[in-house]
Amino acid sequence: MFDIIVVGAGISGTTFAHKVSKFAKTLLIEGKDEKSKRETLLTNIFPEHNCEFLTDIDYSDKSLFPCVHYKINYMSHKYNGIVDSMEFGAPFGYISYTEKLIDHLMQTCENNGGTVKFDEKISKVSRNSEKVEVISNKGNVYSGKLLAIATGSYGFDLQKSLGFEIPDSYKGVYVHLYGDEDRLKELSDFNYLFHINHKISDKGPFFINKGSHRLSTGFLGKSNETYEEIVSKLNRILDSYKPIQPYIAGLKKGPVKPVIGEISKHPIKNFSRDRAIVLGEAGGIVTSFFYEGLLGGIVSADIASKVIEPLLESNSNFTRNELYEYDRELRTKLLDTYFKNGAASEYLFYSSGSAMKIIWETYTKFITENSTIRRYVWDAIRSIEGYDVKRDRWLGEQIFKNLPFLTKITLGPLFLKAMFK
Ligand SMILES: Cc1cc2nc3c(=O)[nH]c(=O)nc-3n(C[C@H](O)[C@H](O)[C@H](O)COP(=O)(O)OP(=O)(O)OC[C@H]3O[C@@H](n4cnc5c(N)ncnc54)[C@H](O)[C@@H]3O)c2cc1C
Repeated sequence: MFDIIVVGAGISGTTFAHKVSKFAKTLLIEGKDEKSKRETLLTNIFPEHNCEFLTDIDYSDKSLFPCVHYKINYMSHKYNGIVDSMEFGAPFGYISYTEKLIDHLMQTCENNGGTVKFDEKISKVSRNSEKVEVISNKGNVYSGKLLAIATGSYGFDLQKSLGFEIPDSYKGVYVHLYGDEDRLKELSDFNYLFHINHKISDKGPFFINKGSHRLSTGFLGKSNETYEEIVSKLNRILDSYKPIQPYIAGLKKGPVKPVIGEISKHPIKNFSRDRAIVLGEAGGIVTSFFYEGLLGGIVSADIASKVIEPLLESNSNFTRNELYEYDRELRTKLLDTYFKNGAASEYLFYSSGSAMKIIWETYTKFITENSTIRRYVWDAIRSIEGYDVKRDRWLGEQIFKNLPFLTKITLGPLFLKAMFK
C-alpha cells in the first residue's frame, strides 16, 4: 500500500510527487506513454513568483530554464506596451522548457524512492474509511492512504465520481517555431508577447513565449470552434496577421502540427474530500485573464504537501475536515488575493465585445506612459505575497479616465460592474 497516489504527471502532479516523496511512499501515475510525455514540447512563462513555492530547483540550469525573462510586450494594434523588468532592478523570472522540468521532478521523485508509472490511465476510484483504490485501464489496482488528482483538463470523471465539482473549460492552441538564436534576438528583445483581439478570441489572448532557438505561439480561450477551424485560424494568423509578422518573420515551423488542448479556469469550491484532494488545473486553479496555470499547480502542490506531512506522521485518516486546511491556505495565499485581479480584468476585457480593442489600446498606451503601472506589473510578477487588490481598482479607473469621451459613456456600466468583481 502506498501513502500517496498522484494521478497525472503535469506540473501539478510532478511538483507534488517531488515534494511528498521526501516523506511518503509515493506512486505517480501518468496516462501517456513515456516517449510522448517527454516529446510534448512546452515553452512557458515561468514568473519569479512561482519560485518561492518550488525552491529546491537549480534555476540556472539552462536545460530547464533556457532564458531569463526580462521583457514583456503587452501589444495592441497601436502600441507596444513594453515593460522592461530591469527598470526596477530584477528580471521577471524565466522561460521554462516545462517538459524538461516535469521530467526532472519525476526523476527526483524516483530518486527519493517514489514509483513512477507511464501509460496507465486511471479509469476508476473507490474509497472506504481505510484506504483509496484506483484502477487503471490495464486492470491494475493500486491502493493508498490519500489520492491526489492532478489530471488537468483531460477529463473530469475521476473527480466527479468523488464528489468534486468541475471548472469551466476552453480550448487553446499552440505551435512551435524555430530559428537560430541570433535570428530570434534580431526579431524581438521581449520574452513574452500578450495581445488581445476579439476576432482572434473573445475569451483569451494571442501569445508568443520566446525560448532559446524556439518559441511557442498560439491563442487561448475558444469554446465552440472545431479542431480544423482553430488550426486554420492559427495558420492564417501566422501567415498574414500584420501585427505579429515582425516578430516571427523567417522562423520555420517544426515537424509537430499545432497542438490543441483544453484549458480550465474558474476554481471549483472545494479542493478536498475524504482521502482525496485536487491539484492545479483540474481544480480550475488558472488565472482567468492571463491563463497562468504553472503558478496554480506549484502553489497547490506546495500547500498540500505541507498540510499532509504532519497528518501522515500522526497516522491520520485523511478526513475532509483534516484536509480542509489545504483549502483554507489555498484561499488565503492565492485565490482570495492574486486571483481576484484576474476576475476583474477578465470581466472588463473579455466581456466587452468589439470594445475590447479600444480598452486594450488605452491600457497599452498607459503602460508606455506611466511608470507606476509598469511597477505594479513588475511587483505582481515578482511575488504574490501581499498582493494589493486596490491597485486593480486604481488601474480600472485610470483606463476609464483615458477612454475617448463617447466610449466612456457607453462603457461606464461595464467598468462599474468590473470594480465589484
Ligand atoms: C497553449 C498554452 C500555453 C500556456 N502557457 C502558460 C505559460 O506560459 N505559463 C503558465 O503559467 N501557464 C501556461 N499555461 C497553463 C499551464 O500550462 C497549465 O495550466 C498547467 O500546465 C496545468 O498543469 P497540470 O499539471 O494541472 O495539468 P496538465 O499539465 O494538464 O497535466 C495533467 C496530466 O494528467 C494526465 N492524466 C489525465 N487524466 C489521467 C488519468 N485518468 N490517468 C492518468 N493520467 C492522467 C495527463 O496525461 C497529463 O499529463 C498554458 C496553457 C496552454 C494551453
